[in-house]
Order: sequence, then C-alpha cells, then structure tokens
Amino acid sequence: MTRRSSSSKLADDFMEIHASSASAFAFAIFLYSTAILSVDAILQGQMRTGRLAVSLFLCLRANAQEPFLTSAQWKLLSAEASGAAPYENLRYLTTLHRVPGTAAFERAAKFMVDRARAYGLDDAHSEEFPIDGVRTYGLMRSYLAWSVDAGQLWEVRPQHLLLGDWQTDPIRLADYSHSASVEASLVDVGEGTSASDYTGKDVRGKIVLADGFLIRVQQLAIAEHGAAGILSDMPNQTTAWSGVDPTLVRWGHLDARQPDGFAFMISRQTAALLRARLSAQEGIVLNAQVKATVGPGHWTVDTATIAGSDPAAGEVVFSCHLDHERPGANDDGSGCVDILEVARTLHTLIHAGALPRPKRTIRFIWGPEHEGTMAFLATHPEIMRTLRGDIHMDMVGGDPFKNKSIMHVTETPWSLPSFVTDVGSLFMDVIRTGASAYAGGTGSPEEALVETRSIAGGTRNEFLADVTPFEEGSDHDDYDSSTIAVPSLYLRDWPDIFIHTDHDSLEQIDATKLRRVAALGAAAGYVYATLDATKLPLLLPFFTAQCEGRITKAFAKAQRLVSDSTLPPEIAWYESRNLLEKALRRESEVLHSLVVFCGGPADSESEGVKALDSQASSFATWLEAQAKVRSAKAAVSPWAADVTARKIPARIAPFGPVNNQNDNALLARLAAERYGKIKLSGLYAYEVLNFVNGERTIGEIRDVVSAEYGPVSVEQVADYLSALADAKIVELIGQK
Ligand SMILES: [Zn+2]
Repeated sequence: MTRRSSSSKLADDFMEIHASSASAFAFAIFLYSTAILSVDAILQGQMRTGRLAVSLFLCLRANAQEPFLTSAQWKLLSAEASGAAPYENLRYLTTLHRVPGTAAFERAAKFMVDRARAYGLDDAHSEEFPIDGVRTYGLMRSYLAWSVDAGQLWEVRPQHLLLGDWQTDPIRLADYSHSASVEASLVDVGEGTSASDYTGKDVRGKIVLADGFLIRVQQLAIAEHGAAGILSDMPNQTTAWSGVDPTLVRWGHLDARQPDGFAFMISRQTAALLRARLSAQEGIVLNAQVKATVGPGHWTVDTATIAGSDPAAGEVVFSCHLDHERPGANDDGSGCVDILEVARTLHTLIHAGALPRPKRTIRFIWGPEHEGTMAFLATHPEIMRTLRGDIHMDMVGGDPFKNKSIMHVTETPWSLPSFVTDVGSLFMDVIRTGASAYAGGTGSPEEALVETRSIAGGTRNEFLADVTPFEEGSDHDDYDSSTIAVPSLYLRDWPDIFIHTDHDSLEQIDATKLRRVAALGAAAGYVYATLDATKLPLLLPFFTAQCEGRITKAFAKAQRLVSDSTLPPEIAWYESRNLLEKALRRESEVLHSLVVFCGGPADSESEGVKALDSQASSFATWLEAQAKVRSAKAAVSPWAADVTARKIPARIAPFGPVNNQNDNALLARLAAERYGKIKLSGLYAYEVLNFVNGERTIGEIRDVVSAEYGPVSVEQVADYLSALADAKIVELIGQK
C-alpha cells in the first residue's frame, strides 16, 4: 500500500473524525451556500469568473473568527478597539523615566490607575510592596529603590562640553548611580570586563571609559581598582542592526547592591571620538556631579478587574510591564497602554450589554517587570490560585518598517502545554488576512483595523505577525513556570532595533498596530473568560487540527534527526522517536488543557487524542524504516547505563523561576566559582527546572528538554540539577 502524504492524511483524518461534528457540518453547509450564491451571480451575469474566487475568499474571511466568536462579536470588538486611545496614553508614559522604585515610576502608576478608574473598571487600585534587597517574593529577592536629585557630566578640559544631564535626558545617568562630586581624568579601559583591561593602567580616583557589561565594569573598575565612576557605551541589546546607528544612547544600570559608583551613558559615536582623542595622548578631564541615593523603598503595582458573573470560575489576567527608562515607548509602554485599551474595550461592550458578561473575572496588572508580578502573586496567593490564563503584552506597538519587528504570538513552553496559543494565533490570522487584503488593494480599512482616529494617523501596513516557539524575556516566564503554571499568550515585537535606547520613542509606534493587538487581546481574553463545555463539540475539531499540524512539524524534525550522520544510528533513532513521543504527549495535553479549562466531562478529548495517536504511530513506523536504512538494530537511549539518570529531583524552594529582572537565585545562593561552572543555561535551564515534579527522573527530564530544544547530554542536565540542589532549590528524593 502506498502511504498518503502527511498533508492529505491530515485532511482525511480530519474529515473521518469530524464528519459528524457540528462544526464540520456547519462548514459544509456554509461552503455549499456560498457556492450556490456565487453560481447564481454568474448565471445572472453580474460577476466575472475572477470575482467568484474573490467572493468565496471574502465569505471565508467573514467567518474566520470561528469557532471562538460570532461574526457580530468580532465586529463589535474590533470596531470598539482603538489605536488612538492607547497612542495618546502612551504620549504621557513616554515622558517618564520609569525605573522601578523611583518617583517617575510612581507617576506612571498613578496615571495608569487613574485611567483605569476613568474607564470604569472594577476595583482599580495601587498596591505597594516593600523592597530592601533582602525580603523575598516567592523565590525572588527584592531589589532597591533609587532617588535622584541631579546628575551632570561635563568635559571641563580641554573642551567645555556637556556630556549628560539627568534633568533633560535621564537616560544619560545609569540606574542606581550613587552620589559623587568628582573632577578626574578619563582613562580608556576597552571593554573593562577582564583583569587584563586594567594592566598597567592607573584608574584609582579616575573615570573609566568602557563598553563592556556595565555591572562587570562596576565590579572591576570601581570595587577592585578604586575608579570613581564609569563612562559607558555598552552596546545595544544585540540584533543584526546593533551598532549600525552610532548615535543611539543605550540605558544602563549598575548593581544597586554595590555600595558606590556612578556611570554615565554615551553614544558609540561620542565614545569613539573620546577614544580617538585619548589614544592621541590628549588628556581629558571630566567633572561629574551626582546627587542620588539607593536604598529601601517599595514597588507599586496597579490592578483592576472586569468582574465575572461566577466568582468560582477563576480569573484571566492581562499583564505587561510598566517600568523601563524613558522613553520606553514600545518596551513596554505599548503593552501597558494596550492592555488598558483591552480593558476599556471589553468594559465598554460588557457594560452596555453588547457582549454578555463573562463568567470569569478579567484582571489587569501593571507593575515592574517580573518584580511586580512576583510581588503581587506572592502577596495574593488567593488570586494566584484562581488564575486560569494570562495574556502578556511586551512590545506590541512598533511600526515594523521602522523598528524592523515582527509581532510574534509566542507558544507556551512544552512544560506547560495549553490551548491558549491557538486562540491568539487564530485572531492574529484574521487580522493579518484583513490587513493583507487591504494593503494589496482589496478589502476594507475596517477589516484591516486601520486606525484613522489618531492624531498621528495609523499606517496601512500589513500585519507582520507569526507564531513562534516559547522564548524567555518577560513576565510570561513567571506565569509559565511550573510553580505558577498559568499558561501565557505572549505577544511581542522582535527584533526592535531601538530597544533599550533613547530612540524607543513614540515616533516608532503605529496606532494601527496598537489597535490590531488590542483587538487581538480583547478577543482572546473574552474567549478565555467565557469558554465553557457547551462549546467543546465545536472547539475540539479545531484544536485537534492545530495539534495535528504541530505533530507533522515535529515529524519533519524527527526525520532530520533519525538521519543525522553525526549521531550513531541507534541513538539517532532513539532521539527521533523521543521527539515524536514527546510532541504527541504535548499535543494530547493541549486538548486535555482545553477540556479541563472548559470544565467538560473527563475524556471529552478522547476522539481527538485517538486521532493524534494514530497520526504519530504512522510517523513512528516511518522513522523505524528510516533508521533501518542506516542499519540500526534498535533505538538505544544515550543514558540507559547511567545510574545518575535514574535519580528523581523534587522542588523545595518557594515558587517562581530562577531568573528575575534583578535577581538570579542561583547566583545569589551559590559561590561564584560554583556558579561559573554550570554547564546549562537559557531555555534548557528554564525548562529543566519546570520539568522537575518529584516523579520524573533526571534521564526523563533530559528526554523532554531534548525533544523540545534538541538533544543535550544527561551529564549537563544532572550537573544543572546538582547546582539547583546546592542552591536548595531542588533536592533528590529517590530513584527509579
Ligand atoms: Zn519589555
């Protein structure tokens, strides 16, 4: 028998399983009626053949928001969502240098909570959480507050030139700079991050010019070598465009826990000129005056809700981060004003009775990145327990043709399989299709969600958006981590060539983009807040199709793995089979997450899971055949003989991931030497801890992260877990 291609098998499976389902039936009727209408039109001579396709396409587009919303609901939501309102709110936020624990951050928090009240949200209020560098929230240690009265840096000899002034451009003074009154010469120390950068240089009492990681320069130049301060042009967060515009000034921050030191931030262009003068033996004398204090204080977090009709149904949360240095328009002023716009949109429609009140409460949180999330959840375990899903917006307003960004709908990690991503990706697709049609000369501005009301005027751009695997980097790391386990739909622009610089300004923001993401968020959030078991017959076919698509993609990867010539054939077979098995488990759990979320009868997903099983077992047969082409006798685990791999770790530390904004629990709890020897980092490290559940062995954890990110050795996983054990975050509780 000749095997069918995966795509036709997919289609066949779908029809087999769902031929009797309501959605398939409705869809068939819909296609039929569309065709009849179009044929009638032709018979009447009103349409040329070319327009038949257009008509069919338009009708399909009109229903594209199914199975989650009716056309009328989507029209209401997308019409109400504004780009002008968030754009104008952002105008104010971008005037504030929003470092957590500072006066300007307080003003931003006051502004947001006032807006939330003005928009009529329930229970809009601010909460303060004490910080002193020691107190913990979950696993995370708190940081410190900072208060600045003045900060000026002049070149006083041979030129008289202002290099930076806090009053006019606060980004020029690095965060957590301490008071200083210094007139000293400037010394170039290159990167300033290794001991050799200081060899033969006398920096004591002087100001060093360095472009390395600022906190490391602080340790070496100030703490070890007695320099008075730092002039830094530390490069931008890396993208392909880094360094291309030498006029950008990146913000920097010092380690607030260090007792002294200050830094001023300058552009690469300014730094290059200074370096050239210093290397020509010119003596340059600078005068720095800083009046600032670092110490205990508090973080402020705003929250507000749209009350649900059933207090027992749990909450859906919208998150963002209110902090970042001025202007911080896209990062993350855009996310803050856009979740506020979601709040306004949903409240307006629900309050007017245009949309039924959802049973789940919808909560909005504005606070410092990671820190606000951890402090809020640690202080409100009763709320943390009720959270069922999160929509996180961090950088969602960039004009893609200015900041080179794509708006990514980001999947949850494999440690937390969830249906939430597919809801977001469907609405992304609806908007993208409408935007594309309008940009290309058909469609309508309303369908494209073009913003025409804003003073700045929204663009008519395409909606450049896609779905991408999990990435770290914002508060969704917290929500998605295993001890919080609130699956997050993470919306983010990446890259952004202006990120963390003085050019991340309102000018880069597109009101149309804000409107589109607000509509996407409002629609997805409303779906999360209203989903119930009555919709399962419509939803399960939809999600099963999404799951099948991802298993097909995993199979494509598995095929490359089984024939990977760098692996012995038996191991390659094992790795490829492992990938397929874990992908199947993940997708089955996606369906399960939907049923649990909806409160559906146990095993409602069984038909869908059966379809996924049969798909994966066909693929496994193919992998076996491919392995045998390489003469593999059996699939052999690379860690089968390793006794360490049989040990079982369990979590013992309070909730939260290891890494948060200004705290790394491993670094804080381990000696620097031990920390420096850790062999695993990034996404692997994040997921290894997430997969620790007191049941999986080290070998099994190795297998799940290897399926997710590619094969990694069991030694690396065991080493990372032993570092976590040394840091008393996990302990080994037995073995299988
Ligand atoms: Zn951000």
